[in-house]
Amino acid sequence: MTALSIGSAQFAPGTSGRTSLGSLRYPSGFSLDIPCLVARGSGDGPVLVVSGATHGNEIAGTAAIIRLMQALDPKKLRGTVIAIPVVNIPAFNQGEYSTPQDGRNMASRIYWNADAKGTVTARLGAILGPVYRMADCYIDLHGNREPCAPMSMMFLSSARDQEVRKKTIAIADAFGVTAVDMSDPVAHPDWVGPADQYSVPVALENGIPALMVELVGAYTVLDAERGRKGVMNVMRNLGMIDGAQEKQDPAALPGRYRYWGSLSASAAGLLWPRVRPGTLLAKGDAVAEITDLYGDVLETVVSPAKGFMWSFNGALYGAGTHALPEGSDIGFFAEKVD
Ligand SMILES: [Zn+2]
Repeated sequence: MTALSIGSAQFAPGTSGRTSLGSLRYPSGFSLDIPCLVARGSGDGPVLVVSGATHGNEIAGTAAIIRLMQALDPKKLRGTVIAIPVVNIPAFNQGEYSTPQDGRNMASRIYWNADAKGTVTARLGAILGPVYRMADCYIDLHGNREPCAPMSMMFLSSARDQEVRKKTIAIADAFGVTAVDMSDPVAHPDWVGPADQYSVPVALENGIPALMVELVGAYTVLDAERGRKGVMNVMRNLGMIDGAQEKQDPAALPGRYRYWGSLSASAAGLLWPRVRPGTLLAKGDAVAEITDLYGDVLETVVSPAKGFMWSFNGALYGAGTHALPEGSDIGFFAEKVD
């Protein structure tokens, strides 16, 4: 095997190291590098691309990637792991979700048809696109703010063919947190943008089995181990490393789930979650109450089906506050399908 060239560095079989995928220039004249970690196995195998902070303030995945790359021994690895700890570097530096310079969301089609002469997000997409296209498998690590339960998102209706669909289910099961099929929700809030336009469904359209994972505590590094375990479980499933699957805590809920959508409240007031995220609910169970500042209950939000809440995000357009403006989406619900 010959050396593999990624960004500014070359990697011989059985080695690991660091590289820069490219850089963005700032008004002050500074250049901002895009760091990347590579572990190239001594044996042949698939290319796994893992990314964090595609939404720049969700650093849970960044931490998981650091732990993952510390745990890997390229001498015992088959194939290559290309890990991008922070995808949206400008957003990360500002602690923001989207690119500050142009307001665009990196979890999008941007890698597949990016304009290298476009605005900052498009230029980032053009730098990262060739790396994503090397992937035989792609995992994008995100995080939800608490209270939330860990989960992974499969975009099965976007899969190019049955093979890609089957492999996506296999890697979701291997990761070990409850997997939810995000296809065709009943009540997806339109202000979030269409779910099937994220980078993971677009990878599936292009024939790459892919998974988007929501770790716990988006803005902290505290959930790094869950992410590391999950990716290494996927690597075992792909035959890239040996060893037994590591258990996740909590384990995935039994059964299959699909994204129902966002539950919303009509009343303005305080959001009081009445169930722990990740608890299996019956249709009609009270999920949350909205009270006024005197403590009087203004509204009770109930479960629309058998399933579970994976997060109480609160009013996202109010920066996730649990002090709700009227008509807020309060959190996300997955329906049990078998
Ligand atoms: Zn995200």
